[in-house]
Amino acid sequence: MNTTDKFKMKQNNTQKINKVRKLKKKHIWPSILTFLFYIALLNALFCVSTVKLVEDIVQTKFEEATTEAEYIGKLYDSRISSDSSKEEVLSDLAANNSSYNRLALLGKDHTILESHGDITVDLHNEMSIYIQTNNTYYFDTNGDQNWISDDGEFHVSVKKILKAVMKNISEKEEGWLKQPVYSASYWTDVEVASSEERLLVPCELIITGEDFVSIFALAVMFLVLFTVLAISLVIKIISRIRLQHQMYQLFYYDTVTKGKNWIYFLHYAEKLLTSRWQAAKTYAIIDLQLKRYRSFCSCYGVNAGEELLKLVNSTINQEIDKKELCARYAKANFALLLTCNNEEECKKRVEYLISKLSMTTMKNHLSFHAGIYMNYSVQRKDTGRFYPRTNVDIAQSYTYASEARASLEENEENAIAVFDQKMVEKQQWVNWVENAMEKAMANEEFEVYLQPKYDPKDDQLVGAEALVRWNSPEKGFLTPYKFIPIFENNGFIMKLDDYMVSHVAKLQSQWIKEGKTVVPVSVNISRAHFTTEHLAEHLCELVDYYQTPHEVIEIELTESAFFDDKKVLLHTVKKLKEYGFELSMDDFGAGYSSLNTLKDLPLDVLKLDADFFRGEDQEKRGDIIVGETIQLAKCLNMRTVAEGIETKEQVDFLAGKGCDMIQGYFYAKPMPVKEYEERAFSKYVTSSGVVSGIGASIEPC
Ligand code: C2E
Ligand code: MG
Ligand code: MG
Repeated sequence: MNTTDKFKMKQNNTQKINKVRKLKKKHIWPSILTFLFYIALLNALFCVSTVKLVEDIVQTKFEEATTEAEYIGKLYDSRISSDSSKEEVLSDLAANNSSYNRLALLGKDHTILESHGDITVDLHNEMSIYIQTNNTYYFDTNGDQNWISDDGEFHVSVKKILKAVMKNISEKEEGWLKQPVYSASYWTDVEVASSEERLLVPCELIITGEDFVSIFALAVMFLVLFTVLAISLVIKIISRIRLQHQMYQLFYYDTVTKGKNWIYFLHYAEKLLTSRWQAAKTYAIIDLQLKRYRSFCSCYGVNAGEELLKLVNSTINQEIDKKELCARYAKANFALLLTCNNEEECKKRVEYLISKLSMTTMKNHLSFHAGIYMNYSVQRKDTGRFYPRTNVDIAQSYTYASEARASLEENEENAIAVFDQKMVEKQQWVNWVENAMEKAMANEEFEVYLQPKYDPKDDQLVGAEALVRWNSPEKGFLTPYKFIPIFENNGFIMKLDDYMVSHVAKLQSQWIKEGKTVVPVSVNISRAHFTTEHLAEHLCELVDYYQTPHEVIEIELTESAFFDDKKVLLHTVKKLKEYGFELSMDDFGAGYSSLNTLKDLPLDVLKLDADFFRGEDQEKRGDIIVGETIQLAKCLNMRTVAEGIETKEQVDFLAGKGCDMIQGYFYAKPMPVKEYEERAFSKYVTSSGVVSGIGASIEPC
């Protein structure tokens, strides 16, 4: 994975994690809240409907009783005449209606004028009935005191009715449906048309078993309806939770190992580390890499490779605790979160894990490298209590662990490294660079230095390479090695490359306008940049902005660029050539040289890496290789530049072998533009002899 990919992957992961978090927030809580709200609503509806039903029944009963009482009042009116006394009418009415064997006549002042039967009515305590009617009701002192509420008021209490009903139902035997399950006696007075007196009629509120059954049936109906709705809601919530769970699985699933993936690790590692219950534990984040995975796949195929990763994943999972994590990060790298008290303990655990893994993969002779980053618990000095960790950045911690792992020698077998102070300082440096880079570019802190290239046959300046320097007001003068690798890692290198191309194009254009003879100046374009589409068009735009002829700009690409997408690279190189740029291969011979690259790409210049000219005991063999490489380049119509040349002997040797250009301290170090101008545009004399500028006549050394 190249550095730009890493950069993109980091952004991608953050986006995915945020998506999972959003999903979690979005789905569960509203559903649960809706459910709870629904349950509360259901309860309230059930209670209200039951009370309402009882009240309705009571109301109806009151109205029926009142109508009947009014009927008795009308009978009284029809029978009263001058020849029969009031007392006689009352006893007559009572004789004909068994239900009204007690009757009384009330005067204006609510005193009993006449009565028949046992009149024990409390006229002082009129009942205040919750159900609104126009009649006045009086407490029957003969009946049960069903009307009296706990606060001493008279009213129909639904609670009392229900209580009495329940008591009666449990006691009643056969035929209880027709019998009263609740009854209460009271009096009501009705108008008598013939006089201003009122007739006091006894009434009884009777709720039979049937009444109650209809109330109960209706309430049950409501209950069933609401329960069905509640169940459907529960089912919906459950299926939603299940769906959500499946989505998590999908997000957290590693298609290769069938275990957990990096997103899962990021999410749960952060959860564990920030949990207050885990605050006392010290955790280690580990980058465990299975070495030579690529060659394993080349030998046994990708499927066998994936099987091996699966085995590694399951072996690790068998060896770790529930509250520890393991997930595949990428390719053959695994991210682990282990609990251990200190570095030593952690190293031992990882050693043990590696030994287990080596045993399972023994027949394949694989080895593992591990980098450890410790995340210690934070304890209060005074109370000894542990703080829950805050600001935990798992991706960053894993990067530290990876850095520790990367510090191991490639050929070491089963090795472990812990992220230490040096690495911390390195990381601090990275942080500083990353914070300062944008501002530095805006302030033009990056300076173009030019290192001339000379023809060794006549010492003429025939070209130059643009090399960046960072003149930081805070950190001083910085050489590229201090910041270029960081820029390559975070993608900023592309901006820097553009910056350099623009500045060089501007300089060349200026010099041409001033009537000076210019030579091609090469600019380094990073490997990451070469993987981007439309690079050729983009560089054209930058150069054309200053109306600079393309042939005075040379593009240097490093050999490592050939490991990326070859198709894109070839396309870009061809396009750049079409646009008239010179192209050179930088650092040829450093690292993994492949002659195939020379065959595939139509380049103009081959830059022999300084390493060709280092190392004393192999001088002879090196000379042969250099000589032959120069010949090879000539056959391919390429010019050669020897880099890092520091001595006269080297220059003479290269001149003898037909090397076209020399770039090295022997002639000149990289220099500021002003100094380059002095050198290039006039005859220039150095301490080692006379070295001429561009187009100057050749002077003997
Ligand atoms: P490079 O492109 O191979 O540049 C040649 C490096 O060799 C330069 O180092 C130069 O100062 C050094 N050099 C030249 N002659 C001698 C010599 O005789 N002896 C010794 N010991 N060194 C010599 P520098 O300037 O430190 O740059 C290092 C690398 O940083 C460059 O290697 C190039 O890969 C990268 N770089 C520099 N500037 C840029 C830039 O603007 N963009 C990009 N993408 N990379 C750059
Ligand atoms: Mg270069
Ligand atoms: Mg080079």
